Amino acid sequence: LLEICNLRKSFGPMEVLKGVSIGAAQGDVVTLIGSSGSGKSTLIRCINFLEEPTAGEIVLDGIVFPAMGRDRRTRKQNAELIALRRKVGMVFQSFNLWPHRSAIENVMEGPVQVLGLSKKDARERSLGYLEKVGLADRINHYPSQLSGGQQQRVAIARALAMEPEILLFDEPTSALDPELVGEVLRVMQNLAAEGRTMIIVTHEMQFALEVSSEVVFLSKGNIEERGKPSEVLKSPTSEALASFLQRYR
Ligand code: ATP
Ligand code: MG
Repeated sequence: LLEICNLRKSFGPMEVLKGVSIGAAQGDVVTLIGSSGSGKSTLIRCINFLEEPTAGEIVLDGIVFPAMGRDRRTRKQNAELIALRRKVGMVFQSFNLWPHRSAIENVMEGPVQVLGLSKKDARERSLGYLEKVGLADRINHYPSQLSGGQQQRVAIARALAMEPEILLFDEPTSALDPELVGEVLRVMQNLAAEGRTMIIVTHEMQFALEVSSEVVFLSKGNIEERGKPSEVLKSPTSEALASFLQRYR
């Protein structure tokens, strides 16, 4: 479904990703772990070209997206990029909801504006996804009237409402009070159990152990270790991973 091949990204003279390759088949859950500054967010943002990679390529559904300058794409490549972004949903650490729109309005926005659904159809679809994340009784609340965990679940419903092929999560629970983390992880666990393809940056090691098909440990822009969650998280082979795991236990 998705292949990231030999991806490099530099900001000026600093190379933040040094040739990273990961892949996800249908239903895979790949979790990215690593210290602050190791390049996790950059990697995940390169997947939908929120960041332009410096070298390498992304392949989604057999369509190749090589790294190239933003303004060097042909019209066809730009159209393909728009299609890619529709197939890839993203959930951020800071929920990024529109403050002056209710929960359901936040979820409906994409289906109406981007997919061109009628308000009625978008509403029905959005209601379904808000129910799925356990917020059927909060649809008319505004973000300020919702807890952080509820806001993040609205953000997940909003991503789901675009019916993407892949969901990307960048530390979805890092901004939450500890007692609210569980409700968001449970929603994500259900999505994994449904067979959704997800790439998740997280520091929740127990969660990573339970849901991942593969765990990838990034260190200074390189993949230092990767493999089955039980192996990577329980018997790290590198010193870097061992000391990283010490800190997140
Ligand atoms: P964290 O766990 O703190 O979120 P991370 O693994 O997500 O860290 P990145 O955000 O990918 O790390 O950042 C990797 C490196 O790239 C850091 O040194 C960061 O300062 C740098 N960086 C990220 N974005 C930019 C940018 N837009 N311009 C310049 N440098 C950047
Ligand atoms: Mg980050």
